[in-house]
Amino acid sequence: MSAQPEVAADLVARLGAIVGARGLVTDPGEMAPYLTDWRELYQGRAAAVTRPASTGEVAAIVRLCAETRTPVVPQGGNTGMCGAATPDASGNAIVLNLARMNRIIELDALNNTVAVEAGCILANIQQAALAADRFFPLSLGAEGSCQIGGNLATNAGGINVLRYGNARDLVLGLEVVVADGRIWSGLRSLRKDNTGYDLKHLFIGAEGTLGIITKAVLKLFPLPRSSVTALAAMPCAEAAVELLALLRNHCGDRISAFEIMSRNCLDMVFRHIPGTRDSLPAIQPWYVLAELSDTRAGSALRDEFERALAEGIARKFVGDAVIAENQAQAQALWRLRETIPEAARVEGLVYRHDIAVAVSRIPAFIAAASRALETRFPGVRIICFGHVGDGNLHFNAFVPGRERDDAEARAAIDVNRVVHGIVQQFGGSISAEHGIGQSKRDELRRHKSEIELALMRTLKKALDPHNLMNPGKVL
Ligand code: FAD
Ligand code: ZN
Repeated sequence: MSAQPEVAADLVARLGAIVGARGLVTDPGEMAPYLTDWRELYQGRAAAVTRPASTGEVAAIVRLCAETRTPVVPQGGNTGMCGAATPDASGNAIVLNLARMNRIIELDALNNTVAVEAGCILANIQQAALAADRFFPLSLGAEGSCQIGGNLATNAGGINVLRYGNARDLVLGLEVVVADGRIWSGLRSLRKDNTGYDLKHLFIGAEGTLGIITKAVLKLFPLPRSSVTALAAMPCAEAAVELLALLRNHCGDRISAFEIMSRNCLDMVFRHIPGTRDSLPAIQPWYVLAELSDTRAGSALRDEFERALAEGIARKFVGDAVIAENQAQAQALWRLRETIPEAARVEGLVYRHDIAVAVSRIPAFIAAASRALETRFPGVRIICFGHVGDGNLHFNAFVPGRERDDAEARAAIDVNRVVHGIVQQFGGSISAEHGIGQSKRDELRRHKSEIELALMRTLKKALDPHNLMNPGKVL
């Protein structure tokens, strides 16, 4: 049931007094993009969309929401995969979008840190680091529109986790507006700080259910001055894992990315993404896109890569390979990998999975999960890609006869159940990097132990006693 009209009108008027006309969206047409997710699977309603310009405004909004018991749905770039930034259908909640809080506050090159507002677009932080001769390694297909606040709230992964860790590993300090509207200023730039519980890690990966991240201090790294990218084709997924081990022996931790793609991912990209084309003559069932980088300019990375690939070819786990000759070719290869989610969205109704298992068990997992899906859903088309170096696969599937415009097919979880059942057998995770949101909330209950769920609920209740911070998500 929606709020009483006069109550809602009063709330909107008071929100307007906090954020001003520029920070308030109430027109249904203008609100629409904030009320659906990137996959267009979820459609919500809201009393208003607020776009605060400062921490003080965020705090005032949250205080007002605590007083009026109004649920708050934090939103960054709205590129999340789990419907976590979409309000429910009641229309009682407000969306709190961080886009206007997009300042780089301070870059400290000697401390290798940058302080930013939560609404900074990820690519802008990468650019700011570059301008200071530094590197911010978080990188993912949505980097041109996702925000650092969303990245931290989802503990995003992406392509450089293998070497630099996930979003959680890149944070030194946070500023957070907690559920009653108080501001926690934990915006420290310290690499060592053992003064009790490490509170920032509670808010990272919490998907906005414990508070609103308003600022962060992030770690920077030396800028890689040489890099080389290669695409290798191979007969089986085992070969990809073997190639990773071989590359590690040759190149140590200079491997910055190591991504796997099944052949049909590439075919789908060629079908739907303009300007993409095949760069290897022979068709193989699997491909690896790998990148080596080094902080030394003119490092002999290419020679080392060539030697490793030649050994892979001699040992028959690489069928063919191409090394990018220049930056433009490297970017073209990366485009193949990065546009897979978009191509899948265009292709049709895709059942997405974001699983993790031990790297060594990737091939066995792919075999077992493929078998299980093919048995249950004859004719299923599996689109498998992901961050194999982290043991993280997007093991996605198209099921014959299931179309995007069929609400029942969209809501079905039978495909997920089959895959997650195999994940459980392998001691894996049903969400490696995308989070839980609303799409995996019920699955979480099936896969976490009672005690883990109970501890999570205890934390939620302690930090958000009235269940106003992104309710209905995660738990
Ligand atoms: P949103 O979608 O707006 O929000 C996500 C969650 O964070 C929601 O729960 C929201 O309430 C919460 N939130 C947002 N901002 C705040 C805040 N300031 N304080 C508290 N809570 C907040 N993800 C990966 O991990 N790795 C990938 O490789 C990857 N590739 C992608 C490729 C494409 C093409 C697309 C479309 C998405 C991809 N994603 C990937 C998913 C998505 O980009 C990430 O989950 C990203 O971190 C979400 O950021 P966002 O700003 O869009 O957050
Ligand atoms: Zn991913």
